Amino acid sequence: MWRGMSTRTPQNPPQLRPDIAPAPRFDAARRPGQPAIGMVSLGCPKALVDSERILTRLRAEGYAVSPDYEGADAVIVNTCGFLDSAKAESLEAIGEALAANGKVIVTGCLGADPEFITGAHPKVLAVTGPHQYEQVLDAVHAAVPPAPNPFVDLLPASGVKLTPRHYAYLKISEGCNHACRFCIIPDMRGKLVSRPVHAVLREAERLAEAGVRELLVISQDTSAYGVDRRHDAHEWRGRSWRTHVTDLARGLRELGLWTRLHYIYPYPHVDQLIPLMGTEADPGGLLPYLDIPFQHAHPDTLRRMARPAAAARTLERIRAWREINPDLTIRSTFIVGFPGETEAEFQTLLDWLEEARLDRVGCFKYENVAGARANDLPDHVPEEVKEERYARFMEVAQRISAEKLAARVGARRKAIVDSVDEQGAVCRTISDAPEIDGELFIDEGFEALSPGDIVTVEIDEASEYDLWGRLIARD
Ligand code: SF4
Repeated sequence: MWRGMSTRTPQNPPQLRPDIAPAPRFDAARRPGQPAIGMVSLGCPKALVDSERILTRLRAEGYAVSPDYEGADAVIVNTCGFLDSAKAESLEAIGEALAANGKVIVTGCLGADPEFITGAHPKVLAVTGPHQYEQVLDAVHAAVPPAPNPFVDLLPASGVKLTPRHYAYLKISEGCNHACRFCIIPDMRGKLVSRPVHAVLREAERLAEAGVRELLVISQDTSAYGVDRRHDAHEWRGRSWRTHVTDLARGLRELGLWTRLHYIYPYPHVDQLIPLMGTEADPGGLLPYLDIPFQHAHPDTLRRMARPAAAARTLERIRAWREINPDLTIRSTFIVGFPGETEAEFQTLLDWLEEARLDRVGCFKYENVAGARANDLPDHVPEEVKEERYARFMEVAQRISAEKLAARVGARRKAIVDSVDEQGAVCRTISDAPEIDGELFIDEGFEALSPGDIVTVEIDEASEYDLWGRLIARD
């Protein structure tokens, strides 16, 4: 029932890829008589964190987690409703769970519109919206009463994680104060609500103690972290820290893990993050990696999209950041064919991309999402024009990526091992986030490696997105 990674398209971000929710890892076998719950987790890393929290609570209450429909007494489907295609996928997953198990509780983004779900699947036991953990647990209690045993239901220190043990998503806030016209996330998830900084830092500390080696900081808008709390200060490790992205970055750096910042917008204070980052040779506790969803480069398109920081002079900023830290990797996503996008606007985007030479780039053809304000904009771009622009965009992005990776051949890079099988070890360099970026393969002398190991590799081959290398040392 788990949606494992079927095909890998490294240039697309997970929030639009409901099919790449990572397979779960469980520590404990089911004891006789223990009720078991299944979970189908669709959608973005933020939804994955919600699934982890629900499973952690269920484990604490004595439920087992079933990896298949047959062994489950009920199934939770955590849905994604970001795009119409994701909604269809969610409805399909609910139907599949109903057919295979019969007892289905629906939660997640699509749960914000219960009639949409019950209209298609009247037999679901309950529908709850995103982050309604208590309601999900109430629904589970009603469907399958708990049978706790305090001597055996011990919770792992880091909670239940659906991501591999050596990396973890760290969710710092929920919701968003912006109103990008193509996005319905603020309608589904509400305004920005940040977790206090000490709570986030303590969670990161616990994850580090439990063996996690890489943290992926996620939210809808990481650079706005703490705005809703007026950046209030809290104590951690005997010092005062503001609920602000720079203080958070400083705190996470102290833990010495590989930490990546996702979903950063190019606000002026982002400049302060760059000097905190490590380098290729010494990645330190904050990787020289920024995930900035630019979405477009033409100011008029950005204004029509109602993007935050639409007027930022991004090329100059990128240049200045790279001067401070030449090892900085920038990944981004773009939308082509947004309503009203002229050929001249699109050409500006291509020229910008040629100049910015971003390291990792994903691209989407604009599509309407039910409820989004962009649907009502005039001058929608015909499908064949979107296709053609997408192909032109990807050609440039791939060429830049291939050139950048080819330039790495012969260099020594640090990499983290994600998995090892009889054919080799699959790793990632500091430039590559899991699920969305490229991979580095070692196919000789890898036998002693384990997931989570950090190694030094000499790169000997490169493709458009991936690298191959020779193991030099295990750190
Ligand atoms: S910043 Fe824009 S795209 Fe991102 S969640 Fe907020 S409204 Fe949506």
